[in-house]
Amino acid sequence: QTIGQYFDDACRQYAARDALIVRQQNVRWTYAEFGEQVTRLACGLRRLGLQPGERVGIWSQNNVEWVLMQFATAKAGLVLVNINPAYRRSELEYALNKVGCRALVLSPSFKGSDYLAMVADLAPELAASAPGQLHAARLPELRWVVRMGDDATPGMLNFASLLADASTEERAGLAATAATLQFDDAINIQFTSGTTGSPKGATLTHHNILNNGFFVGEAMRLGPDDRLCIPVPLYHCFGMVLGVLACVTHGAAMVFPSEAFEPLAVLEAVQAERCTALHGVPTMFIAVLDHPRFAEFDLATLRTGIMAGSPCPIEVMKRVVAQMHMAEVTIAYGMTETSPVSFQSHTDTPLEKKVATVGRIHPHVEVKIVDTNGRIVPRGDTGELLTRGYSVMLGYWGDPAKTREAIDDAGWMHTGDLAVMDDGGYCNIVGRVKDMVIRGGENIYPREIEEFLYRHPKVQDVQVIGVPDAKYGEELCAWIRLREGESCSAEDIRAFCDGQIAYYKIPRYIEFVDSFPMTITGKIQKFVMRQQMKEKLG
Ligand code: ATP
Ligand code: MG
Repeated sequence: QTIGQYFDDACRQYAARDALIVRQQNVRWTYAEFGEQVTRLACGLRRLGLQPGERVGIWSQNNVEWVLMQFATAKAGLVLVNINPAYRRSELEYALNKVGCRALVLSPSFKGSDYLAMVADLAPELAASAPGQLHAARLPELRWVVRMGDDATPGMLNFASLLADASTEERAGLAATAATLQFDDAINIQFTSGTTGSPKGATLTHHNILNNGFFVGEAMRLGPDDRLCIPVPLYHCFGMVLGVLACVTHGAAMVFPSEAFEPLAVLEAVQAERCTALHGVPTMFIAVLDHPRFAEFDLATLRTGIMAGSPCPIEVMKRVVAQMHMAEVTIAYGMTETSPVSFQSHTDTPLEKKVATVGRIHPHVEVKIVDTNGRIVPRGDTGELLTRGYSVMLGYWGDPAKTREAIDDAGWMHTGDLAVMDDGGYCNIVGRVKDMVIRGGENIYPREIEEFLYRHPKVQDVQVIGVPDAKYGEELCAWIRLREGESCSAEDIRAFCDGQIAYYKIPRYIEFVDSFPMTITGKIQKFVMRQQMKEKLG
């Protein structure tokens, strides 16, 4: 099935149930209402002359328009291109041209950055063009610019105009097109987070992401009575697949607390909407747990959710279970290129396994863990994780060389992650191949040292990297964020390690910082930390 067919069935089956709650916009729709808006928007997009297979970019924070676009483009056979809200003019230009977007749907501004001004800069021709007639020197493929919000901008169409009632003929035309779409057509281009370098555009099909959303919801035991709070960004697979598609495939309600993550908005949304589930990367859970007003909120309705995107410190996991009532929380591991999830714990996975692993393999996914020669390592040994199956992307859009590097001839996706699997099939991600530190011939996994340093009572958050060293090849460096009001010296930290971990695992450099360089999804960019340390150490 295509996403459009599946979505229409869900809207009929769960018609009277809550589908979508977007708190900052005061939107509350049942599945029937949501389905009708999506059909109108799909007809509206077709009215622009957009043809199946053409790319449509969306550049926006989380909002109702975003969720509508996700399904309307799928129904009309258009390829939705998720554009990171943190992008600036040159990155936007790159993304739009890289995949040849015909149309761009954008929010007027977000977090103090003026999207309209950036587009006007890139395409000064816009102001004098009739809508749909853009021919800009720097954005040669782009014809339409559609803006959200109530004001009008010359040359742009208003999003609301695409939601006008659709005629019977238009609806019939949409249905006829929908019948020609294939489940393995490209439907979505998602850029990776850019944790290890510049983001890559992964091309995904209906089959890829719809199935993954379904299996993610299965592992959480989602059902029509569930209400999932989604503070993670929609432009990323965490929001659009683990959030939106997991809900739609199980008739659950989606609750958006705010346009971008804010801990207080999450607390308010969970209490007011009686959410049963909550997603987040570990840093988001930390921010919620540490919010000064945390104790004022009743979170007893929470049951499950997904913590993913980066390793979760054990202490954080324990607090999420004890203080947020999320005994059925699940951990997921995945990457944009694999739709994304390939490992997940289940609601009833024992806590020891949840805190120590990313769970077991997802249905219909194959994995192997190999050494640098591509040989499968014995259970319990560390190696690079390879995955294969329905979930592997078509490729990086317009980049066959990078695609071949990532997916080998036998169809294995090389994840770039280091993993260990135990006898029970539980997998642990111990870091990235690129982050492993080799000091004087010893392989060191920074994660292990981070886990140890978390136990220090004054340490709030810690990240460990390798920095170049003339004598040992690499030396360890720890960046530490202390708890509020605490002070501590590098000597204190070293004394804490002394005799507790091997001498070569004790960080040579210790820096106290207020924050870490992060992607907009809240992932820590160790490559930026490494660059900064390199400059600092000369
Ligand atoms: P880029 O590929 O652009 O450098 P990225 O790999 O962070 O960025 P994503 O596809 O968003 O982009 O993230 C996938 C990566 O996130 C995985 O390869 C893995 O390193 C990490 N990851 C995801 N889930 C987990 C998890 N539960 N535990 C540890 N790491 C995880
Ligand atoms: Mg990656």
